[in-house]
Amino acid sequence: MPIRKGGVSVDLQQQPISALKGVGPRVAEKLAARGLATLQDLWLQLPRQYEDRTALTPIGLLKPGVAAQVEGRVEAVERGFRYRPMLRVAIGDDSHGTLVLRFFQFRAAQVAQFQVGARVRCYGTPRPGKQGLEIVHPSYRLIDDGGDDALGSSLDPVYPAIEGLGPVSLRRLIAQALDRLPAEEALELLPRQLRDGLPSLREALLTVHRPPQDADVALLLAGRHPAQGRLAVGGLLPHHLGLPRRGLAHPGHAAPVLRATALADTLRQRLPFALTGAQQRVFEQIRADLARPHPMLRLVQGDVGSGKTVVAALAAMCAVEVGQEAALLAPTELLAEQHLNNLRGWFEPMGVRVAWLAGKVTGKARAKVLEEVASGEAQVVVGTHALMQEGVAFHDLALAIVDEQHRFGVHQRLALRDKGTGGNGNGDAIVPHQLVMTATPIPRTLAMAAYADLDVSAIDELPPGRTPVQTVALSAERRPELVERIRKACAEGRQAYWVCTLIDDSDEVVAQAAQSTFEDLCKRLPEVRVGLVHGRMKAAEKQATMRAFKDGAIGLLVATTVIEVGVDVPNASLMVIENAERLGLAQLHQLRGRVGRGSAASSCVLLYQAPLSQMARQRLETMRETNDGFVIAEKDLELRGPGELLGTRQTGLAQFRVADLARDADLLPQVHEKGGEVLRESPDLAERIVARWVGGAVRFAAA
Ligand code: ADP
Ligand code: MG
Repeated sequence: MPIRKGGVSVDLQQQPISALKGVGPRVAEKLAARGLATLQDLWLQLPRQYEDRTALTPIGLLKPGVAAQVEGRVEAVERGFRYRPMLRVAIGDDSHGTLVLRFFQFRAAQVAQFQVGARVRCYGTPRPGKQGLEIVHPSYRLIDDGGDDALGSSLDPVYPAIEGLGPVSLRRLIAQALDRLPAEEALELLPRQLRDGLPSLREALLTVHRPPQDADVALLLAGRHPAQGRLAVGGLLPHHLGLPRRGLAHPGHAAPVLRATALADTLRQRLPFALTGAQQRVFEQIRADLARPHPMLRLVQGDVGSGKTVVAALAAMCAVEVGQEAALLAPTELLAEQHLNNLRGWFEPMGVRVAWLAGKVTGKARAKVLEEVASGEAQVVVGTHALMQEGVAFHDLALAIVDEQHRFGVHQRLALRDKGTGGNGNGDAIVPHQLVMTATPIPRTLAMAAYADLDVSAIDELPPGRTPVQTVALSAERRPELVERIRKACAEGRQAYWVCTLIDDSDEVVAQAAQSTFEDLCKRLPEVRVGLVHGRMKAAEKQATMRAFKDGAIGLLVATTVIEVGVDVPNASLMVIENAERLGLAQLHQLRGRVGRGSAASSCVLLYQAPLSQMARQRLETMRETNDGFVIAEKDLELRGPGELLGTRQTGLAQFRVADLARDADLLPQVHEKGGEVLRESPDLAERIVARWVGGAVRFAAA
């Protein structure tokens, strides 16, 4: 139902772009390919640049590298064909300067226009050329004497290019959409708490798309103009309001109080190692959370190998001790199985029963597990997504632990939370505490953006005795040397990974690449047992190979990034990552974390295809410089933006169109604080804001 306010249907913004003039099915399709479907999408398609055509710069005052608009008369025209067609047009003005306009592609009609004496107005960035400054392919127009020579009155927006649609057409479409912007009072939803000092939405959109002549261009280009601030707040708020949360929106949620710690203490004493200071600190934080009658929602970040599992195990003991259950959910079967083995090793000698539920547990075995889970006989349940399916009922689930959370969506975490039990007699729903673990450290700001109210702990210390991984970047031409290195490592009884990656390609193509690398390495290393795992293999086959690698029966494992998460093979001390330049930092770091888990000195070789882009060079450089996941995460955010760090699609971050987390992070605390007020004081408004900007993409807070 459209919300009507001030007589204007707010739904106007949801009108399809095809309602605009000049938008046929083909154009609509091209726009849709870039996620632009409604008028609102066009309003929020913000310029990436501005061109200042409001003034003319005398040619004599042009500076190399500084874009400007100039006007002059044609002084000379030269056509050349020596290497390729070329047209050079020299123009001059009263400032006694000369500027060369250079074209490599041009039509005869264009050449005919440039008669000596003709008046040309053009815009572009001058660069030093053979004869003074020149502009290559400027945008230009000829002005008839006595014709329209008015200067622009606002800066010209330059929009991100859309394939198959010229910049002029795109600009016209956006202008048309802006002409249909509703009146201020119909458009404005930003709660007064956040409006302070900011322009209205209408004004902000108009300023950003059509900056007035006196607008502070430097601020605009830096993304720091108040109009952009308004849009960023408007972009962050609905996301924030739409996030699942514990307290505020759910005064009716309670959690089991888990106060006893005798079992956890016993487990601690039985461990073959002492906890690190960081593990102890984080466990203390969790223990304090569990002792309160409110659901915990805590993210534990810890670099690969920092020992998160044992902290989770200690927390699970707090549930077991009071006769309730804990569940541990992992994103892959392999990883879940690894947890199962660890937990069984720790728990069963203490008489604690651990059950296993994965997709492959079927038939009678499954029925039996479900029964144990439902009766509470299984005190700890380890598994994969299978745990979240309907039909899995827990007896009295007190703690849900989710490992490597970035692989799961918010919805999935909620599904597990919803497996909590009944009520507490006061009409409050009792939900389990949630512990979320990740080895992909999330910068604080990003964590705030991804979770409404989340406590974050960091295990920022590795267990003693680890040797840092040595990382080198090598051009792919040096592959033969590497093969020799692997031969040597395997001869010494060590193991190696060879990771094949091809980002942006289908599973199929990557699997093929892995297959041919596998065959090639088998040929070159006849004395080494080589294994292969990729996403196209059957799960059983994949696992058999992984197990053989874990057991040491395989010396070299050729794999796609399926091995990325959590697998622990301490004897593996060499990792080669092919096409490393194409991977993001977080993923490289995750992969590298597979080595350096034992006491042997480990190394990671990043093979790249030259030439490297600036971005790729910086990433490889960062990988060589640091092993610290937190530093890497910050750098990743800086280089790449929030995108995949959080698993964009799943968390709904794709909804950030106008806010840029790397840039607008400083707005978050305010949005959180004021957003909380809005939820408390005007839940209706909150709901409308979410419905308008986020739509069905994120469950509203009531989820
Ligand atoms: P991650 O944080 O990557 O999940 P794990 O929990 O798999 O790390 O731990 C990695 C390895 O370190 C495991 O073999 C684990 O038993 C071991 N470990 C954990 N804590 C300690 C510690 N305090 N001292 C020594 N080894 C530890
Ligand atoms: Mg782990």
